Amino acid sequence: MIGGIHSIRLLAAGILLTLAAIIGREVLPKRTLDLIAPGYKGEHFLFPANDDPSGEKVSWVDEKRFHFRCHYTGDEAYQSCSLNFMLTRERPMEGMDLRGYGSITLDLAYRGNADFVRLAVRTFDPRFSRENDGNSARIQSINLRARDVVGPVTINLSDLAVPEWWIAQYNLPREYNLPSFENATSLAIDLPGRLAGPPHELELRRLELQGEWVSREALYLGIVAAWLLGAMGAVVWRLADLRHQHRQQEREIEALIARATKLHAEQDHLRRQATVDELTGVLNRRGVEQTIADLGERSAGMAIILVDVDHFKRVNDMHGHEAGDQVLRRVAAVMAQNVRGGDILGRWGGEEFIIACVDCSAEHAAAVAEKIRQRIEASAFGARQRIPVTASFGVAAVLGAHGFAGALRRADAALYRAKSLGRNRVVVDDDGDESAGPMAGAA
Ligand code: GH3
Ligand code: MG
Ligand code: MG
Repeated sequence: MIGGIHSIRLLAAGILLTLAAIIGREVLPKRTLDLIAPGYKGEHFLFPANDDPSGEKVSWVDEKRFHFRCHYTGDEAYQSCSLNFMLTRERPMEGMDLRGYGSITLDLAYRGNADFVRLAVRTFDPRFSRENDGNSARIQSINLRARDVVGPVTINLSDLAVPEWWIAQYNLPREYNLPSFENATSLAIDLPGRLAGPPHELELRRLELQGEWVSREALYLGIVAAWLLGAMGAVVWRLADLRHQHRQQEREIEALIARATKLHAEQDHLRRQATVDELTGVLNRRGVEQTIADLGERSAGMAIILVDVDHFKRVNDMHGHEAGDQVLRRVAAVMAQNVRGGDILGRWGGEEFIIACVDCSAEHAAAVAEKIRQRIEASAFGARQRIPVTASFGVAAVLGAHGFAGALRRADAALYRAKSLGRNRVVVDDDGDESAGPMAGAA
């Protein structure tokens, strides 16, 4: 859930930033360019200039206050009265990009009888403007009625147009005659038309361009782009997170499977340990009992053979416990070789073994016992010296479905008799099984 809170916080931050950008654009100070500010570095000059032959007609009253005067008597061939602001910096064809400005505020005090005051912006367009022809920089201008500029006026730059005379003079393709403020080289205030008569006095109090730092369009486009990018980032991040989670879950599942497998193996091992005799590898007493219990009804036709190694104490005493263990392993192996696959063979305790012969009469079991007895007697025991080993056998048939305990008791009794009769022999219990003979075996 931490991820959820995290994304809500991010979302809130994004909304706040968006609001701040939208409101900030409206509220924060606009971009301005004050052409008559004391610190403004651009040049300005009157035209015609004073060193011009006709220049004496145009002169400063107070240059610091952009206050100037034009006076034409009537016999001058060329009459002009303008204040020019250069917008170029190093090179005459490299001007300013005024496209970021939407309007211009003009505050001009004018005294004279001219009908119009003109505001003009020159733009150098390398497609047709020539450096040696100042007029070839396209002119965008607007004529304002003199009586309309008594106070400050704000004019949209889009209201400026390319005058007919300029279009006619340069005779350029239509698209070159459209206003553009991309590379403005100068801005001028002048009086159009004939100026002969009483003097004209102009004092420029304010000349300031205003614009936006960022256009509304650009800002909104930027906001949409930022949100889209953010959404994309969120999707990518979420996908990566899901993949990571998926991998982690896979790893966890693998670990669980590995643990389960290990536990299973351990359980198997423990089960084996619990039912198998470590020394001989045959079932232990619990294993035998469990197997017989698992047989249930099928244990009915079974016969039990109890086997006890004769004088085993002596083997231990004479050859050592280690040799005794080897004898036990060997006896178990001989028995395992001589029972059928379905028969149950186990170590009943100490040097005593049990064989549960499945689907077996006492007589048949006695024959099996006898065979084993002979094999044990004939086997070679002992690594260094031959240890004579024999065993005694007690056989009894299981009577009824739950007759194992009884059969065991009777087999034990038969084994006891086999011992009493001199060992190394098979004695069949004759209580339960009529077919069983009193004994089979050899002394
Ligand atoms: P009997 O012919 O009457 O059976 O004589 P026995 O000596 O075989 O009988 P007894 O019960 O007196 O001795 C059994 C011996 O078996 C006692 C014990 O030390 C030994 N024994 C029991 N379990 C083991 C074992 O796992 N390894 C070894 N080496 N000896 C064992
Ligand atoms: Mg014994
Ligand atoms: Mg014994």
